Amino acid sequence: MVKSEGVHKSFGATHVLKGIDLEVAPREVFCLVGPSGSGKSTFLRCINHLEKINAGRLSVDGQLVGYRQKGDKLYELKEREVAAQRRDIGMVFQRFNLFPHMTAVENVMEAPVQVKRESKAAARERAVKLLDRVGLGDKTNNYPAQLSGGQQQRVAIARALAMQPKLMLFDEPTSALDPELVGEVLDVMRGLAEDGMTMIVVTHEMGFAREVGDSIVFMDDGVVVESGHPREVLTNPRHERTKSFLSKVL
Ligand code: ATP
Ligand code: MG
Repeated sequence: MVKSEGVHKSFGATHVLKGIDLEVAPREVFCLVGPSGSGKSTFLRCINHLEKINAGRLSVDGQLVGYRQKGDKLYELKEREVAAQRRDIGMVFQRFNLFPHMTAVENVMEAPVQVKRESKAAARERAVKLLDRVGLGDKTNNYPAQLSGGQQQRVAIARALAMQPKLMLFDEPTSALDPELVGEVLDVMRGLAEDGMTMIVVTHEMGFAREVGDSIVFMDDGVVVESGHPREVLTNPRHERTKSFLSKVL
């Protein structure tokens, strides 16, 4: 579903991604871990072309991100085409970024109505079902300020799902939550995984990685240091840098 080959990304003189090679299979739950500043968020942002890569190849579902290839030449996609690619990728951030002046159901309906031109009635019906799926069937008419952090994050997940993405990117979705609210969000993600969603999850929740993840990649200083099955990597890390990182988060 996602293939990254020798991906590099710099911001000015700061070389952030230094040749990322990895592959995410359809239906896979792919966990990405590593210390602060190692480039995890930057890599996720490259996948939906919020950042442009400087070298290498990055594709989602067989399509190059942001480019079209003709022969051995690459052509940049137009903004409209980039937007179309992005629609298939759901993203959930540490901060929920809900629209504060809209209710939960209005937040979830917004993109299908505005971007996909779905009818309000159809979008609302689906939004209610999605909110039900994330355990918020009784909160559809609450405003974000009337929801807990965990509930807001579940609305954010429902909102991303409303666009029927083929890939979901999670960037530390539980890091901003009070500890007692983390579980309800992880449970929703676990449910998504069971339904077969392809997911890339940046997280410090090693329990989730171990139980739900199909693979884990440990990234440090812009390179993949170690990857494999979570039980293997978390139990028997081979590299010193992985060991040292895990000793701090486990
Ligand atoms: P964290 O765990 O703290 O979220 P991370 O692994 O997600 O860290 P990134 O946010 O990808 O790390 O940042 C990697 C490096 O890239 C950092 O040194 C950061 O300062 C730099 N960086 C990220 N975005 C930009 C930007 N827009 N301009 C300049 N530098 C940036
Ligand atoms: Mg980050």
